[in-house]
Amino acid sequence: MIGLSIKDKVVVIVGASSGIGAATARLLGEKGAKLVLGARRESRLKELVAEIGNQALYQVTDVAKEEDVKGLIDLAMSEYGRIDVLYNNAGIMPREFLREAKFANWEKELQTNVMGVLYGIGHALPIMRKQKDGLIITTDSVAGHVVYPESVVYNGTKYAVRAIMEGLRQEERLHGIRSTIVSPGSVGTELMKTIDNPEMEKAMAEMMKTISPEYARMNVLDPEDVANAVAYVIEQPKHVTISDMIIRPTAQEV
Ligand code: NDP
Repeated sequence: MIGLSIKDKVVVIVGASSGIGAATARLLGEKGAKLVLGARRESRLKELVAEIGNQALYQVTDVAKEEDVKGLIDLAMSEYGRIDVLYNNAGIMPREFLREAKFANWEKELQTNVMGVLYGIGHALPIMRKQKDGLIITTDSVAGHVVYPESVVYNGTKYAVRAIMEGLRQEERLHGIRSTIVSPGSVGTELMKTIDNPEMEKAMAEMMKTISPEYARMNVLDPEDVANAVAYVIEQPKHVTISDMIIRPTAQEV
């Protein structure tokens, strides 16, 4: 059964310029949502809005800056007077061992993956509380459910997001506000460019060459697969909260 309509829902997407965020914007745009899109790369956002059409707006947003996230939410309010869905999707994934002590990367990662989510929640909640209605979705990860070496800080940010979103659910469940994390496994996006570890990137590229095409296809999701999950969450009636959707490519082990 197809659920509630997405048409005319006001959806703010933070981290909309590529990968999962852009695919979700396209899909929700096709379904008639009113979109307010944020990220740092203006050229990407401009192209996306041109492609989606006039129910999409953008504003350059650095999720690590509270005032930028507030500005994006203010834009949605001034244009549409309400926010039905906030989708916190921005994220980066530097990879390193703890012994490498890459403090600057870790600060950036915590600021983007955790504080960015908190800025979104903090600025959307008063609005959603007044509306007595609202849905906050955050892209978590399988990495927020299991820990593995050379990824520990990223894992930590995604565990933190899982805890925060569950706490949000508990605190706001009697105020009509719903909280969801979508937790993908490996998705073919530009996230690998944020690894900031040339050796690991090289090793991964070499490893990919050794994998047969059929296996490789079963080992990665498309951004559209995750977008479908986000649309499914939004289409649920108000009395249904999907707290976590874990979506793995079929062949993924962890
Ligand atoms: P992409 O790199 O394609 O997309 C990341 C998005 O986040 C871009 O729109 C980027 O925009 C945005 N972003 C990053 N930093 C900031 C910032 N400081 N301010 C605003 N926006 C920012 O990768 P994905 O689509 O894969 O990543 C989306 C989410 O999915 C992330 O949270 C990631 O952790 C999560 N995820 C990804 C998986 C994967 O395998 N790809 C698996 C599980 C979870 P811009 O650079 O223009 O600012």
